[in-house]
Amino acid sequence: MTQPNAPITQDVHTIPRKLPEGGKINLVGLTRAQMSEALIAAGTPEKQAKMRVGQVWQWIYHWGVRDFAAMTNLAKDYRAMLAEQFEITLPEIVTKQVSEDGTRKYLLRIAGGHEVEAVYIPEETRGTLCISSQVGCTLTCSFCHTGTQKLVRNLTAGEIVGQVMVARDDLGEWPEKNSPKNETRLVSNVVLMGMGEPLYNFDNVRDAMQVVMDNEGLTLSRRRITLSTSGVVPEIAKTAEEIGCLLAVSFHATTDEVRDRLVPINKRWNIETLLNTLREYPRLSNSERITFEYVMLKGVNDSDEDARRLVKLIKGIPAKINLIPFNEWPGAPYERSDWQRIESFADIIYKAGYASPIRTPRGEDIMAACGQLKSATERSRKSRAEIAAEAGL
Ligand code: SAH
Ligand code: SF4
Repeated sequence: MTQPNAPITQDVHTIPRKLPEGGKINLVGLTRAQMSEALIAAGTPEKQAKMRVGQVWQWIYHWGVRDFAAMTNLAKDYRAMLAEQFEITLPEIVTKQVSEDGTRKYLLRIAGGHEVEAVYIPEETRGTLCISSQVGCTLTCSFCHTGTQKLVRNLTAGEIVGQVMVARDDLGEWPEKNSPKNETRLVSNVVLMGMGEPLYNFDNVRDAMQVVMDNEGLTLSRRRITLSTSGVVPEIAKTAEEIGCLLAVSFHATTDEVRDRLVPINKRWNIETLLNTLREYPRLSNSERITFEYVMLKGVNDSDEDARRLVKLIKGIPAKINLIPFNEWPGAPYERSDWQRIESFADIIYKAGYASPIRTPRGEDIMAACGQLKSATERSRKSRAEIAAEAGL
């Protein structure tokens, strides 16, 4: 006999094996396999799990639905069970700033009251969302604002996927009901170039990208995702194997002496080690080019000699060199190279046969440009001594 209020549904034959401790499980950011496991643990019969995941997945990632009650192809009782045990939760927008050039910077609050930033950069034919992977960063690249902020914690996969969904919410990018295809593509590209070192949060980044790349939801192809690393060598091959996205490397210098100072992780894995690893990367993921990011710092790494050395170093690697004019932040110990200097540097690289685009700073008026992200509210700051020691200044 069924009791009137008992949470029994036609789909649920077993007693939940594992009840979420201390609250509901957030479905956002679970891979299909993880979601299946969670639904089974909540009582979904194993045989139905794949189908249920497919249905719930489509509601969340294709239609952008947040309310289980709206998942109309699921039985009512099943929806009630979902609502009881699960949630669909995204980071909360604390502030949104819109630059004169249309760039949008979101300050997002995540569990624990921490804050991270994500930046949407509209371009004529595409839109790129720059997302964060950590609150702060353990590394201390001396030209990077995020590097002055202590690592507070890794983001969960849900918080990483959530940034993409928040941007789509804000841009109104979910498909209209009954429209067969999602035609708009405002967020057409994702770059892991916000706060944090993505390869120090590998598993969560990988799971999040699997969700983002899934071809029945957010459906961004792996070629539209670029992960930027400061050079965490042991994780680079894994990135190709387990994520398969494009890779960008924060190169920034042509001698170990200078790179040690700019990107201190170089003391652990130096230029030669890094380059040897990169030589393997394209082969693993089907011959795409690696982006070498190179921040232009006046009098530090911007000479013609540097440009020529760079070309020699990367010989044999399918590459493009992205020159980033240094973006200043309060208290930064560097200056941006002069425009002429940047052009002369770019020219040498271009003549050697590599694309050498100069990245136009976007959203500078709202401090949204590369390397300027730092949640002002996060008090935890590295000491000057820590920064100086790491950077060997
Ligand atoms: N942690 C990762 C990704 C985030 S930074 C990494 O270091 O690769 C994205 C890019 O912006 C990196 O190449 C980084 O070195 C660069 N960057 C950091 N601070 C900058 C600044 N102030 N001006 C210009 N580029 C900066
Ligand atoms: Fe961290 Fe990247 Fe900034 Fe270096 S450049 S401190 S790795 S966020």
